[in-house]
Amino acid sequence: MVQKGPRPLVLCGPSGSGKSTLLKRLLKEFPDKFGFSVSHTTRGPRPGEKNGVHYHFTTKDEMLAAIEKGEFLETATFSGNTYGTSKRAVEDVRRTGKICVLDIEIEGVKQVKRSDLDPLLVFVMPPSINELERRLRGRNTESDEALKLRLETARKEIEYGQEPGNFHIIIMNDNLNKAYSELREFIAQNVKDNDQARDGPAATQ
Ligand code: ADP
Ligand code: 5GP
Repeated sequence: MVQKGPRPLVLCGPSGSGKSTLLKRLLKEFPDKFGFSVSHTTRGPRPGEKNGVHYHFTTKDEMLAAIEKGEFLETATFSGNTYGTSKRAVEDVRRTGKICVLDIEIEGVKQVKRSDLDPLLVFVMPPSINELERRLRGRNTESDEALKLRLETARKEIEYGQEPGNFHIIIMNDNLNKAYSELREFIAQNVKDNDQARDGPAATQ
């Protein structure tokens, strides 16, 4: 049987819903178990963001050329910038034997659903649009214009996220500790690491 390795984990949700916060916690608690798929983006780095760690920061021209060469698993335009998961980003994590975690928006989710990545899909839900705006403003990373665009997109994302069958779990992030516990529990129940994936489900003696 072909060894496919563990199923990747996708976190999706409106900008400001708490994906990065949850992921950071997960990667800190289980550094040997999970590896982050480092996306490409044409947006500029925020203070503290490192090239090759948080994103591969690139230009529109470079990204278009790489997309044409077939280097990406999925790509999307979000808030005026291009984002994408390169095949290499996922491969780099797979090679370490860790479970690959992707933080991508809904157009990307639709594309990976049609691929053979077969990921587990988590939607992180904000308590309300007002609270989302409050958190985004508090993060202080967006211009007023970018913030407005992100909030407009959020409404569509919430609609898609809540449609039955689009995600394996919807995690309401009204309280960070509770949301993280739910994520951990979902992972414990559903995500198999490399050894378990090799053994297969409920291997008999
Ligand atoms: P995303 O990665 O989905 O865009 P972030 O993880 O950056 O969102 O979270 C957006 C902001 O909201 C951050 O400033 C973060 O500290 C804050 N935040 C995340 N979860 C919660 C929560 N449960 N309650 C209050 N603030 C939160
Ligand atoms: P941010 O600019 O806040 O880091 O990310 C904006 C949005 O882009 C978020 O919803 C995030 O999940 C999404 N995103 C980040 N990387 C990728 C990617 O590689 N592909 C897709 N489709 N979305 C991404």
